[in-house]
Amino acid sequence: MNIGIAGVGLVGRVLALNLLQQGHTLTLFDEDTAYGDSAAGMTAAGMLAVFAELESAESIIFEHGQRSIALWPELLKQINILDAYQQEGSIITAHPQDYNELEHFIETLQSKVSEASEIQRLDKEGIVALEPDLEQHSKAFYIPHEGQVDAQRFMHASSEYLLAHSDVTWHQKTKVMDVSSGAIFANNEVQHFDWVFDTRGLGAQEQVNDLRGVRGEVFWLDAPEVHITRPTRMLHPRYKIYIVPRPNNRYVIGATEIESEDKSPMSVRSSLELLSAVYSMHSGFAEARIVNMLTNCRPSLRDNLPKIEHSTKMTRINGLYRHGYLLAPAIVEKALNEGVLK
Ligand SMILES: Cc1cc2nc3c(=O)[nH]c(=O)nc-3n(C[C@H](O)[C@H](O)[C@H](O)COP(=O)(O)OP(=O)(O)OC[C@H]3O[C@@H](n4cnc5c(N)ncnc54)[C@H](O)[C@@H]3O)c2cc1C
Repeated sequence: MNIGIAGVGLVGRVLALNLLQQGHTLTLFDEDTAYGDSAAGMTAAGMLAVFAELESAESIIFEHGQRSIALWPELLKQINILDAYQQEGSIITAHPQDYNELEHFIETLQSKVSEASEIQRLDKEGIVALEPDLEQHSKAFYIPHEGQVDAQRFMHASSEYLLAHSDVTWHQKTKVMDVSSGAIFANNEVQHFDWVFDTRGLGAQEQVNDLRGVRGEVFWLDAPEVHITRPTRMLHPRYKIYIVPRPNNRYVIGATEIESEDKSPMSVRSSLELLSAVYSMHSGFAEARIVNMLTNCRPSLRDNLPKIEHSTKMTRINGLYRHGYLLAPAIVEKALNEGVLK
């Protein structure tokens, strides 16, 4: 079929890769360039925190998250970056004064899904065995099965793959004004397709009721003195921070979560909180270099759950909130399995 996709951020790309596997011909529209950074998918840390996200999410997130973890390797293989996937579990810790919070956090996860009984309590020795660099901590939990996708590599490699594919036409810097039954309206003209998908994230606000942005800020640090190998979280009463390791001593540090659609640069308050928290986790961050500070907004619905909406010759997928990498492959699979293209 001849298919149009409005919005080539994270969901649009996962969708495009699936549709190409099925032999369809695609026309993509995005208001940004193929290598631009306006998509939330470009700012994301790419954590696949299937258990840890359960604290404030429903068990449906866990089920879709598990399915996505099974699907990511194939998608990454398709674009030749299987090494952008890591699934070696994650660590969660806290400062001694916050140990009660940490216990409560783990109990909450264990009350939500039986699989969370696999989460392992670590003492100092156990921590050092997994992550020698976290030796200053004496209590933590190891969460098996969690992992990460290197989000920026996924976005870059998928751009290259889609741009080079003979069944793809990509209209870059093309703002879509409307998406309706089999039609995409852009550049003052309507283009007709056998089916269209609206995956514009926050850009679909005029068409999707209750869609809002949730601001998030992240740092990229180069930290040669730090050797943490797994995504690591620290619980704190006011904020949760995570450290996500990338190749060559780079770490993504995030992320704030603020009910605002403001995409302006990071605030002083957020930068102080994130950097002091990360320094308290590991003093080796003192001499790290700040290589990037990014802000973006997560496209979110009122219940913070994803939504697939089908109508004649059209599907909208939106509301992936802080779970885009965790959920996109499973949500796209579900949308396509619902038989919309048949
Ligand atoms: C700071 C931060 C950290 C995150 N960390 C994680 C994480 O660790 N794990 C995780 O699972 N998720 C994470 N997320 C969430 C994840 O990034 C989002 O859920 C996901 O990107 C949403 O995908 P999307 O395709 O709906 O939107 P986007 O990725 O934002 O893509 C939307 C695309 O539509 C285009 N567009 C918009 N309007 C128009 C228009 N009118 N015409 C044409 N094109 C248009 C945009 O240019 C963009 O390319 C994070 C998000 C943020 C902000």
